Amino acid sequence: MNGASDKFEMLIFTPIMKVYLDNAATTPIAQEVLDEMMPYLTENFGNPSSIHAYGRKAKAAIEKARKTVAKYLNASTSEVFFTGSGTESSNMIIKGAVHHLGVQRIISSKIEHHCVLHSVEAVEREGVQVDYVKLDKEGRVDYADLERLLTASDKKTMVSLMHANNEIGTLLDLHRVAELCEKYGAYFHSDTVQTIGYMPFDVQALKIHFLSGSAHKFHGPKGVGFVYINADAVLKPFMDGGSQERNMRAGTENVFGIVGLGKALGLAVEYMDANHTYIAGLKQYMIERLNSEIPGIAYNGDISNGGSNYKVLSVSMPPHSKSELMLFNLDIAGIAASGGSACTSGSEKGSHVLEAINAPVDRKAIRFSFSKYNTKEEIDYTIQALKKMLDVPSVAV
Ligand code: PLP
Repeated sequence: MNGASDKFEMLIFTPIMKVYLDNAATTPIAQEVLDEMMPYLTENFGNPSSIHAYGRKAKAAIEKARKTVAKYLNASTSEVFFTGSGTESSNMIIKGAVHHLGVQRIISSKIEHHCVLHSVEAVEREGVQVDYVKLDKEGRVDYADLERLLTASDKKTMVSLMHANNEIGTLLDLHRVAELCEKYGAYFHSDTVQTIGYMPFDVQALKIHFLSGSAHKFHGPKGVGFVYINADAVLKPFMDGGSQERNMRAGTENVFGIVGLGKALGLAVEYMDANHTYIAGLKQYMIERLNSEIPGIAYNGDISNGGSNYKVLSVSMPPHSKSELMLFNLDIAGIAASGGSACTSGSEKGSHVLEAINAPVDRKAIRFSFSKYNTKEEIDYTIQALKKMLDVPSVAV
């Protein structure tokens, strides 16, 4: 290092494309979703609690969206509640389970999203016992350790484990955890924010008590989510106020947001298989190109087909003097990716997920996450930019 000039050396790379590969942070809203929402921002402005025609129209739109969610989950509409975000959903469940269901112990993991991790820490400060399950170096839950923890105490327990990790993509075997929870009488919550709209769910078969979802992760609007609360695990309201959402979530509903969530989920379900094949193909294509063209490339988390979320790829860059500037240089090249969880990107704080799986500290992690709107050409362009940044010579063709 030659002082500040080296440290701040940037790659001069004139952007010729704009490439959005940060779809685990958020997804672009689909035009069809926006079209469906617009009337609820304009002429259909009624308050769903009003009994006149304006109100009834807004209420009917909310109930239509609720049916879409319930059908997707194979749940009853009475088990689906709209919230303001995935964060709110997980707060509602974790704090509600402690305050209203008598949960005295939570088993979770160190790689949960902060909305779970910090909620768990908040109830721990109230005296709840918290245990973290062991993980392997790819972030997979050690199921034997989970079973050991479940048998280790008589306290009323809830397990809160995410379905797909937002930074590294590693998946949880939901059925296996649900069976263990059933066997030992524990409640089960999963933060399914990264998989709702991408994978099928059947809560009748799964035997899970709580799920959380967020519309902006599947081409819906921001600021709207939902919780699934099983009829056998009824919580009390999280907020005091009016009787909206059957008394569970006071405050006039975000009607256009809920309409958008319903439309986005409907589209996600309709095209799920085709989208899955397409997006998984993009990810595989990127892995193949990285493996063959960038020496020393590695990955964080499970990248196997089936073991990981098909839209997330956390790349562990080979050590390089300019690697600290890579995200910045990608941005200059017109490529949006993330250095870890989107919620902490932009800050210098390291990733708690990468730390928990002991990812090498001398390697920069860059998360690329894909959507149905990405193309192979965008991946080609990204590979070209990465090679330039890592000084990998391009072979003339
Ligand atoms: N859970 C996971 C796994 C996430 O990736 C996110 C968003 O990054 C959230 C929860 C929070 O969702 P929201 O942005 O709707 O609060």
